Amino acid sequence: MPKHIITTDVVIIGAGIAGLWLHHRLNKMGFHALLLENNTIGNAQTLSSQGIIHGGTKYALNGILSKATQAIGEMPARWKDCLAGKGDVDLTSVNVFTDHQLMWSKEQLSSKIVSFFASKALSSRMQTVEKSAQPELFQDPNFKGALYRLEEPVLDIPTVLHALAKPWQDRILQIPADADISWQQDKNTVQSIQIGDDLEIKAQQFVLTAGEGNQALLDSLGINKPTMQRRPLQMVMCKAKDKHNALPKLYAHSLGSGSTPIATITSHLDDDGNVVWYIGGNIAEQGVGKSFKQLTHEAEELLHDILPWFEHPELKWATHAINRAEPKQSALSRPDTAFVESKGNLHITWPTKLALAPNLADSVINALTKQNLIAHSHPSPSLPQATIGKALWDTAFK
Ligand SMILES: Cc1cc2nc3c(=O)[nH]c(=O)nc-3n(C[C@H](O)[C@H](O)[C@H](O)COP(=O)(O)OP(=O)(O)OC[C@H]3O[C@@H](n4cnc5c(N)ncnc54)[C@H](O)[C@@H]3O)c2cc1C
Repeated sequence: MPKHIITTDVVIIGAGIAGLWLHHRLNKMGFHALLLENNTIGNAQTLSSQGIIHGGTKYALNGILSKATQAIGEMPARWKDCLAGKGDVDLTSVNVFTDHQLMWSKEQLSSKIVSFFASKALSSRMQTVEKSAQPELFQDPNFKGALYRLEEPVLDIPTVLHALAKPWQDRILQIPADADISWQQDKNTVQSIQIGDDLEIKAQQFVLTAGEGNQALLDSLGINKPTMQRRPLQMVMCKAKDKHNALPKLYAHSLGSGSTPIATITSHLDDDGNVVWYIGGNIAEQGVGKSFKQLTHEAEELLHDILPWFEHPELKWATHAINRAEPKQSALSRPDTAFVESKGNLHITWPTKLALAPNLADSVINALTKQNLIAHSHPSPSLPQATIGKALWDTAFK
């Protein structure tokens, strides 16, 4: 018999962006939802993300204006409402690094690409930045390329985690990383989750938002479909050795010779106030398995290639290996919307993009409402609460 047996309306497992957004919304709606975390809040993909609230422009550049770009296209406005205090979660305390991103090419683009970017489908998503309005980095006379503005904000993710977690912190429980998980099930209905020998939680509904951890949870439930896929990345970080000679803040995609971005750079402040460039894109996709020396050497060459006019200060480097976890899909398909599959009162989810967390919460709430979820009042459990994970910039260089 477990030491603690508690009851709630909804159990959500995994406190990344997906679990936190859903948890916040359900509690705000008057339900009692408990969120379980076996590490720190946000520690996995969410705190590894670049914090870009994609509107899908990156995908549209391939010329594929599919359902994918439409669903994600609604997300920047949805997040902006929340940032302004008018949305379904309150993000007014979030630090917005920038309300738009840039995209540049080091050389003039071909007339074919220029007219594609100016086409009706893309012109609402991106506009040319006139020379006089260009940031200092692009004012250099040796910059002869094109610069576009994309209406996609970039957010300081630890502050997002804080805004979502704080109002319901007493409902975000820390569970041991190595605890055995087992389930009480009756036919197709999950009745409770047992965590180690000490804790059993009964609920009407259960939601898996554990990212890569969903696989082990599905195994513990004996479920073999949906199948998860991991897509690994090795991201690169750099900052000036001397913080008084810091890198300029940059939030931008660099275009290669074609119309697709080859690198994405976002800027973050470490705990010493120094600017860290966090670099993703091809270099991170192709950097998987490479040694620190090899990858940082390639990154240095990449910076010279995409910003040839920029003499950067002497740099310190770090790398970060991380898997993206998603439902398995064919190699060519892009994540369109958040993924939610319900099996009775169990809901298996992956947002596939941080930006799609609101979309994931909508789908789960829709599924729960259809199953007549009832709001009960439950006492707050007096169990340890999970804490927010550290930003990469504060740990990666040490
Ligand atoms: C390098 C990188 C950059 C990215 N940049 C962007 C971007 O700029 N914009 C964008 O929209 N998307 C981006 N993404 C994608 C985005 O980060 C992810 O889609 C999103 O963060 C996934 O959120 P999640 O909540 O599903 O998973 P996660 O953030 O991985 O959270 C899962 C949580 O579950 C916990 N957990 C696991 N197992 C258990 C268990 N058994 N019990 C309890 N807790 C458990 C984990 O500890 C973790 O806290 C990026 C991804 C990567 C890897």
